[in-house]
Amino acid sequence: MLNINHLTVSVEGKIIIKDLTLAIPLDKVTTLLGPNGAGKSTLAHAIMGSPTCKIEQGTILLNEEDITHKDTSERARKGLFLSFQYPLEVPGVNLANFLRQAYIATHGKIGIFDFKQLLEEKMKVLGIDASFADRNLNEGFSGGEKKRVELLQLAVLQPKLAILDETDSGLDTDALALSAKGINLLKEQGMGVLLITHYDRMLDQIHPEVVHVLVNGKIVKTGDISLAKDVTQQGFQQLQEV
Ligand code: ADP
Ligand code: MG
Repeated sequence: MLNINHLTVSVEGKIIIKDLTLAIPLDKVTTLLGPNGAGKSTLAHAIMGSPTCKIEQGTILLNEEDITHKDTSERARKGLFLSFQYPLEVPGVNLANFLRQAYIATHGKIGIFDFKQLLEEKMKVLGIDASFADRNLNEGFSGGEKKRVELLQLAVLQPKLAILDETDSGLDTDALALSAKGINLLKEQGMGVLLITHYDRMLDQIHPEVVHVLVNGKIVKTGDISLAKDVTQQGFQQLQEV
């Protein structure tokens, strides 16, 4: 379980997350819904220990261990993973090398050939063409390809909890279905997911067990997938007024 207790977070002097308490299971899919500017990304960055987020109050516990002030690399080693809302293109950094370094940083040493084998196996499972391994990280990749490479990164690193920030943004229907399939596969292998979004269009395929609605830095409602349907159809306005 990831437990967030009475967390208040500020960014550049402005309070964004306000006294937020939330428990996120490591073996389920949890969805965090909310309008633009609600503080979803800020919460994700605070969980991961971004230096731009100042913890004013409260604690973050991972399996009862206090990680509130641990640095990001340590959180990654303990099994937390945060995807980029906008994955960066990194010319000159080979994808396979990047993934191997990320693996070594979180899991310890692995030889080049052992890693190659692991990578090939994961690429096969996710249906990613082997030629991608030799390309530069995200360079010239389509939106859908960037997201699939992110799934590959998840498959290789096998975090306990993957926080996926607007992973559905900019994807067409086919790319969305592929992404959802990949996420479900990793879920079956035991990965917990915190899916952050402001649409319901991925939820039919991902089947979140819990849905939380974040408005103005606070959880205003908790429910199941029917809550996600109601909120995205009727808009966040009514909840904002509550
Ligand atoms: P969401 O992901 O839900 O759209 P964000 O967490 O990105 O929301 O942003 C929440 C609020 O924090 C917004 O009002 C945004 O303008 C503000 N904010 C985010 N980053 C910064 C920053 N670096 N400096 C000042 N304000 C910021
Ligand atoms: Mg955001």
